[in-house]
Amino acid sequence: MLKPHVIPDIEPTIDVGIILPEDDIRTVELTLPVQPLYRLIIKDTSIDLQPGAIRITYDHHTLHVTAGGMEWSGSGSITIEPVNPSAALAPRQGITMHPVVAGRGFHWQKNISVILPDTLRFSIYDNHLIAINSLLLEHYVMCVATSEMGADCPPALLEAQTIAARSWLLANIEQKHRAMGMDVCNDDCCQRYQGTTFVTPHSIAGTIATSGKVLMYGDTICDARYSKSCGGMMESAHHVWHDYHIPYMIVKPDTPPSVSPSIQKLDLTREAAARAWIDSVPDAWCGPRYVPENELSRYLGHVDEEAAYFRWRTEITQEEIRHSLKLYAGIQSRAVLSLLPVKRGGSGRITELDIVYYPDRGSRQQVYKACSEYEIRRILSNDFLYSSAFRVEYREISDRIPGVFLLIGAGWGHGAGLCQIGALGMALHGQPVEAILEHYYPNSYIKQIY
Ligand SMILES: [Zn+2]
Ligand SMILES: [Zn+2]
Repeated sequence: MLKPHVIPDIEPTIDVGIILPEDDIRTVELTLPVQPLYRLIIKDTSIDLQPGAIRITYDHHTLHVTAGGMEWSGSGSITIEPVNPSAALAPRQGITMHPVVAGRGFHWQKNISVILPDTLRFSIYDNHLIAINSLLLEHYVMCVATSEMGADCPPALLEAQTIAARSWLLANIEQKHRAMGMDVCNDDCCQRYQGTTFVTPHSIAGTIATSGKVLMYGDTICDARYSKSCGGMMESAHHVWHDYHIPYMIVKPDTPPSVSPSIQKLDLTREAAARAWIDSVPDAWCGPRYVPENELSRYLGHVDEEAAYFRWRTEITQEEIRHSLKLYAGIQSRAVLSLLPVKRGGSGRITELDIVYYPDRGSRQQVYKACSEYEIRRILSNDFLYSSAFRVEYREISDRIPGVFLLIGAGWGHGAGLCQIGALGMALHGQPVEAILEHYYPNSYIKQIY
């Protein structure tokens, strides 16, 4: 595991949670490749494994392993590691594992198969099976870079994204899963990780080019967070994560220097300015002038071909909003009347929203307060609303009750730190990796730490 607040001077190994207790998985199927060869370690015993299928089962506080007609059991941890650890990583190298949960906690949660390099460790935590993939940090970064990026993405973007991902990991601020011996988990809660399943020679090259490089501010590694599209104005960290003040994640126009002075003056925390901003198409790096939206999927991989992210519209029906209010806020309502922004951050993102409704019983209006951009996006859409920078139009009103809420919005994600589509726009227009990182994390610098 990484040591908090310590900058490593050699490449560290990191522990990625693949199966968490909440997944409630009791049986895992593994397929070992012909190469490399693996061995199994239980307590002090080491057994060489043949290529082929292995099953690991959790039952009554005991782990059982079945491989090639042989069986072992124990209550301690089980490790499967390469006999000769090789330094180089290749696409689809490693052990195939099924099932692994993707989209944990979302309505589209599903089980998938992934291919995991380096070492796997299985153990029991809180009466559940957990699995950890221990691997070299550079291998992890290669795997993370690909699941986010399409093969055509320009090298400067891939390198900027890779340095940001490495820095975020080593800054190691959140540590949501530390009690289980995990530095990060494999899902969007931390960073989506699917092993070598989607690794390409291109993403390996991008990682090798920046190996050991991190982003620094003063003498600390930057907690370099990023999102898909800021919408033309970067959000500050403290508007997204309450009271998290970070000098290099601030409100700033995501525009070329020639355009910035006029936009700099805008105060999007003001309601009228935010509405006008959302209705405009500013000349931003993440806007259609620099990145044609119909070409996004060529560069960014998993995006919806038809969708616009810089400026978007979505309709929510009365029924949908009442359903989500019950599901995510535990509120039974007869009708939702209005959505009123109370506070906005510097990018126009709403950080406090009043949801005015009639309760199930009684005729007095009530207000539910959604108090973060995350909660607002969670409550207003089953698919997670693109962003909380929006204005509302009410449609099909009957007896003061809207049948449809039309949301007109800007950007995708929290908007703080690097804007991936904006960084793509910069890279496509010849900006080098140093300029991209300095733009999104002002006054930071790149340092080689190992
Ligand atoms: Zn996590
Ligand atoms: Zn942007």
